[in-house]
Amino acid sequence: MALLQISEPGMSAAPHQHRLAVGIDLGTTNSLVATVKSGSAVCLPDEAGRKTLPSVVRYAPDGAVEVGYAALKAQKADPINTISSAKRLIGRTLSDLQQDSHYLPYRFGDNGRVIELNTRQGVKTPIEVSAEVLKTLKARAEESLGGALTGAVITVPAYFDDAQRQATKDAARLAGLNVLRLLNEPTAAAIAYGLDNGSEGTFVVYDLGGGTFDVSVLQLTRGLFQVKATGGNSALGGDDFDHRLFCWLLEQNGLSQLNEQDSQLLLAQTRAAKEALTAAERATVHATLSDGRAIQTDITRQEFHNLTWHLVQKTIEPVKQALKDAGVTKGEIKGVIMVGGSTRMLHVQQAVGSFFGQTPLNNLNPDEVVALGAAIQANVLAGNKADDDWLLLDVTPLSLGLETYGGLAEKIIPRNSTLPTARAQDFTTFKDGQTAMTIHVVQGERELVSNCRSLAKFTLRGIPPMVAGAARIRVTFQVDADGLLSVSAQEQSTGVQAQIEVKPSYGLDDDTITQMLKDSMSNAAEDMAARARAEAVVEAESLVAAVEAALDLDGDLLTDDEAAAIRTDITALKTQMDSGSAETVRAATTALSHSTDPFAAKRMNRNIQRALMGQSVDSI
Ligand code: ADP
Ligand code: MG
Repeated sequence: MALLQISEPGMSAAPHQHRLAVGIDLGTTNSLVATVKSGSAVCLPDEAGRKTLPSVVRYAPDGAVEVGYAALKAQKADPINTISSAKRLIGRTLSDLQQDSHYLPYRFGDNGRVIELNTRQGVKTPIEVSAEVLKTLKARAEESLGGALTGAVITVPAYFDDAQRQATKDAARLAGLNVLRLLNEPTAAAIAYGLDNGSEGTFVVYDLGGGTFDVSVLQLTRGLFQVKATGGNSALGGDDFDHRLFCWLLEQNGLSQLNEQDSQLLLAQTRAAKEALTAAERATVHATLSDGRAIQTDITRQEFHNLTWHLVQKTIEPVKQALKDAGVTKGEIKGVIMVGGSTRMLHVQQAVGSFFGQTPLNNLNPDEVVALGAAIQANVLAGNKADDDWLLLDVTPLSLGLETYGGLAEKIIPRNSTLPTARAQDFTTFKDGQTAMTIHVVQGERELVSNCRSLAKFTLRGIPPMVAGAARIRVTFQVDADGLLSVSAQEQSTGVQAQIEVKPSYGLDDDTITQMLKDSMSNAAEDMAARARAEAVVEAESLVAAVEAALDLDGDLLTDDEAAAIRTDITALKTQMDSGSAETVRAATTALSHSTDPFAAKRMNRNIQRALMGQSVDSI
């Protein structure tokens, strides 16, 4: 159940009551935990001083669960019981995986709902595996911060669907973490760069990690982040660079088949050399193989770049595609944020810089930036910021919408939309010459406004008088990162605008939300009937208004009898509008519509004649 978290004005934590909150980057290759200390975000290291925790979990023979470096070390020797790809599996089913080109050495089971991994410690799901990683980071944070955590913000790829997000939340719950919010990784990166403070424009987040490449196009408006497009390659990352270099080393040394132990050793050395080449012009790979042969090979950065340039180029195609999907050109991009350990490589920086014609943002550690942004967000959500005394949401727990004519609730932002979010919808006027419109903002799942929570009301004035249905009023709902809803309305032809910030002084607690959802389900049939009736009444009202206006204007075209017959039908319809059912209202509406057909024809003739006499139809 989505939680609505409220801290009432004055109830925020006082500075001395700092609540312990962390941001967690639950990565495919590496995971990190960060927190805000004395106003700035920092990643928390383990006892050996290492900030990254390999996202690897091993179910060891002695019944222990090893997480991180120890598990990584045992992976090659014990592949079946050492799970390193939980993020590729979480929230998915085996049939999803079949479309994935990745080879994974596990013994899969399937119950149709979740993927199962058969290990020596029994069946494990990716949720449980991820929970082990989260548990380790939670323990690290509590040790380092000296207390229990209030909550955590956990990041997920922007393309994660509902099932993957829900499964990530379940993993957190299993690890004993209170999830303040799931945050999109590119959004977290943008927050770490402070782009939530007033930056506007379109940004690209280029994330090259260990085994995956993700690119996102983000649009920022007034602190509102929208993911415009995502793309990438789920089988391209730092591992491919390691592998290319490894193959080259074999060639250079005239080696072909290596045993498991040797290839593992060499691969580890290769990765170290690759990482060293980021800081140094040359590196050396040293290894002594199991048969006693010693390997010592020098490689320059330039050689490494030549060997792997094609891999760098492979990332550009998905970038182009994401720009295309977002409908922007590269010239419109205001900044490119580099994320993921592999973007430390200089040829990656160069390729991205020259593609966009600008130097990418890279002054934060690319492998830490997601965790840092999550920590900043967690700090706000935990209530550690003094000015943060309004509604905070992770997803919208109930639909947000507005009242339309007839007391109906029209949903604009459906429940469970992740935040922040913005949606717009066009509405029109109901009466001829209507110059004002009241916007009534409501929250809830029910069809009728009277059964929803009223959040705010405001009026859009100065709509130019037009016939009913001609004005086009665009109502925009925006829920920002803090869960603050603002609603604006604009008449499109004149640009007349009105807006309001909705700042509820109360909150809905979990029980209320549960009750409201239950009500909406159990009352669905009743609501449908009520909605049908209300819609029929709205239609009837607009017909009555139109006919009455026409009688006033052109009543002289009718004989007394004809006029009386029409008035009788109007009265009959009004009676039905007061007390009839949807069907009887509709029948009476049809009757009035038929009985006024000849009248409409006469009016049409008169208008044409007027027009022929030099008067425009518009002025009638
Ligand atoms: P993920 O998001 O997939 O969990 P990371 O962002 O932590 O992964 O990136 C891990 C990758 O970054 C690994 O392939 C690692 O070798 C690479 N990497 C880390 N540091 C460097 C470096 N200094 N130079 C080049 N590559 C690096
Ligand atoms: Mg990552």
